[in-house]
Amino acid sequence: MSITSIRTCIACRKSESPTNLLRVVLVDGSVIPDIKGNAQGRGAWLHLQCGYVAIERKAFKWAFKLTEMPDVLALKLFLQEKFTNI
Ligand SMILES: [Zn+2]
Repeated sequence: MSITSIRTCIACRKSESPTNLLRVVLVDGSVIPDIKGNAQGRGAWLHLQCGYVAIERKAFKWAFKLTEMPDVLALKLFLQEKFTNI
């Protein structure tokens, strides 16, 4: 594992390998899970299990340096699907 590939979870601030994190990108004011890992745009990283915490703490607002909370519906649906499939 390369030292340059360490990312920080925006919810718990823990440093982590990207393989253990979900990448999300901001697209037209919406937070979209980057499932393939190659989406264009400003990205942020978080643990899957930190998803709801990130939404609750409005972590995406500061992560993307926004003045308002972005739309997190797509991320919520993604998390719902993930956690009901376990
Ligand atoms: Zn986390």
